[in-house]
Amino acid sequence: MIPVRKFDAIVVGAGGSGMRASLELARANLKVAVLTKVFPTRSHTVAAQGGIAAPLANSAEDNWHWHMYDTVKGSDYLGDQDAIEYMCRRAIEVVVELEHMGMPFDRLESGRIYQRPFGGHTQSYGSPKMAMRACAAADRTGHAMLHTLYQQNVRANTQFFVEWMALDLVRDPQDGAVVGVVALEMETGEVSIFQAKATLLATGGSGRMFFSSTNAFINTGDGLGMAARAGLPLEDMEFYQFHPTGVYGAGVLITEGVRGEGGYLLNKNGERFMERYAPNAKDLASRDVVSRAMTTEIKEGRGCGEHADHVLLKLDHLGAEVINLRLPGIREIAIKFANVDPIREPIPVVPTAHYQMGGVPTNYMGQVVAPEGASKEAIVPGLYAAGECSCVSVHGGNRLGCNSLLDLVVFGKSSGEQMLKDMRALPMPHRNLPKDAGEATRSRIGRLDGAKSGERVADVLNDLRRSMQAHCGVFRFPEDLVEGVEKIKTIAERAGRTFIADKSKVFNTARIEALELENLVETAMATAVSAEARKESRGAHTRSDFPNRDDKSWMKHTLWFKEGNRLDYKPVHLKALTVETFEPKVRTY
Ligand SMILES: Cc1cc2nc3c(=O)[nH]c(=O)nc-3n(C[C@H](O)[C@H](O)[C@H](O)COP(=O)(O)OP(=O)(O)OC[C@H]3O[C@@H](n4cnc5c(N)ncnc54)[C@H](O)[C@@H]3O)c2cc1C
Repeated sequence: MIPVRKFDAIVVGAGGSGMRASLELARANLKVAVLTKVFPTRSHTVAAQGGIAAPLANSAEDNWHWHMYDTVKGSDYLGDQDAIEYMCRRAIEVVVELEHMGMPFDRLESGRIYQRPFGGHTQSYGSPKMAMRACAAADRTGHAMLHTLYQQNVRANTQFFVEWMALDLVRDPQDGAVVGVVALEMETGEVSIFQAKATLLATGGSGRMFFSSTNAFINTGDGLGMAARAGLPLEDMEFYQFHPTGVYGAGVLITEGVRGEGGYLLNKNGERFMERYAPNAKDLASRDVVSRAMTTEIKEGRGCGEHADHVLLKLDHLGAEVINLRLPGIREIAIKFANVDPIREPIPVVPTAHYQMGGVPTNYMGQVVAPEGASKEAIVPGLYAAGECSCVSVHGGNRLGCNSLLDLVVFGKSSGEQMLKDMRALPMPHRNLPKDAGEATRSRIGRLDGAKSGERVADVLNDLRRSMQAHCGVFRFPEDLVEGVEKIKTIAERAGRTFIADKSKVFNTARIEALELENLVETAMATAVSAEARKESRGAHTRSDFPNRDDKSWMKHTLWFKEGNRLDYKPVHLKALTVETFEPKVRTY
């Protein structure tokens, strides 16, 4: 018998989104369990640097409608406009709430929250004047947010299960409702079922499927793997954002906040090349635009260094005072990972895999939705998702900087609210668990423990990451995409034959890595298959053979299903909640 632990609600993931949701639930005196692979304040949100977007208008005129316009345009018109309106309208409320919880934002002379410009955020519906919308705590905004949320959760009696890895969802075979998760305690290697009336996935991104990534080692797409194995679709996975400024050779992120403070990019001729690609926004054009421009400069022979394979980010002209006050973490990263002090020299940078726009499909109240009968968006009872593992979809084909931290708190909060509402509307005891609950998970672990020989996990993982980098990068070529899909299929088969030499139970990280690989295989497959099928260029998805956006054929969301490696599509929500639709137009910066 697998031991069972009962809670009102389970939150898988203790990043910004998970802890915002758990706070909502714990404050309502529910019994809430938060499962996390690492200590909560080590979740990847801690790495967020530049800021959280909200039109507070503390330094320059701003409003939520301009923010909404920028987000719709940034998404290359694939974002759902109802969800985008919802997010932009709640931005001020959630940021002020964080402030009241004690989040240590930087301050202006007036005492108000400090705000800086960020890529793609403009005034007056895309005018050349940049908005000052990114609320920042130096270049450690995520760190400040995560610690604030953790402290509030401790105060509200949220129960944390640290170093517990959720492995699979448990669904009721009657109606597909989610009734909990199966999870492994890393310390003991024991498996338990966490049973709940409501389960939220908040497991973050899957950046480790690429070779060069800004993401932490724990970002292995676990929530997506769990959803895919449970028969649920993954939405818009072809849209993967490459951040323009990863440290050359290391991948560590240099925030867009550097360019927000006045830094700029140079090619080998010392030219500010962004002026040619985005005459208005220049270095603060949206990320897909800047990444493509950098890659083009390098491809056309204007890259820097011995191998002409990177460009330079110059910020020494900002002066030591600004760099030390506003960008201290960046200076430290540049010295440690690029061996340059940005007070004196430029930082070598290349576009690096950064953020997954797709994920588990949800509506803007965090409820997971999937096709059923005539509906493309039937609610999956008992299951919710928020943060980078979800696809609401507010980011569509490309996310604007600082809109992720915002999405975490807006949709973390709204999913917590919805979970409460659903539990209160239908008060009832826990449903019975299906008889075979946890058996599929046990047999996955059993295969690993029983295997006497097979592939090394590290070899399969490296091949997966190299294949994704080569076949699904900033620019995508038709033959590469077809070949990439075949390679990932072979890698998926190999992942089913992995072998770990260490069979011990206590803190067996080899077993954890093997299980994480299975999740990365699902996310990589979804990404490659969806990318190969989308015959247009939109947002972060840029194809050499279809260089233009094709709204007639492709203004639709992709849904990938693990079973049969199948694709389906559903319409974009063009209708906003209360305002006029922003009609698609050519996207220039
Ligand atoms: C270097 C960097 C800088 C960034 N800067 C910014 C910025 O300035 N502004 C902005 O808006 N966005 C920024 N982003 C993006 C943003 O930080 C992330 O998208 C966001 O923090 C993700 O939060 P999350 O709550 O979805 O997940 P995460 O913070 O990644 O947390 C995921 C949680 O899930 C847990 N977990 C995962 N799998 C399992 C499992 N199987 N079982 C149990 N627990 C599990 C983990 O332990 C963790 O607690 C940045 C991203 C990076 C990489």
